[in-house]
Amino acid sequence: MKTQFICEKCGKTYATAEDAKECEANHGVLIEAHPMPGASYHHGFVYPELVYARFRNEKGEETAAEYKFFSRKDNDFSVVKKERGCNE
Ligand SMILES: [Zn+2]
Repeated sequence: MKTQFICEKCGKTYATAEDAKECEANHGVLIEAHPMPGASYHHGFVYPELVYARFRNEKGEETAAEYKFFSRKDNDFSVVKKERGCNE
């Protein structure tokens, strides 16, 4: 039997724990998120159309992005994750 190590963030499998940890260190975590002020909100709607987000990985590398609204039928994250096939 061969032991495999899995990156907990992207699910890729590796032969060594070091490689899996290195993969995990490459993926950033969300450190900041804000609805974009102004036209991002439409009158009478609960959600903003655009969200600014910033990420940082374990190596200290950062990147930022703008996310556009994409509706999910269910607003419970545990249900949405299941629908998306996430195994957590
Ligand atoms: Zn990974």
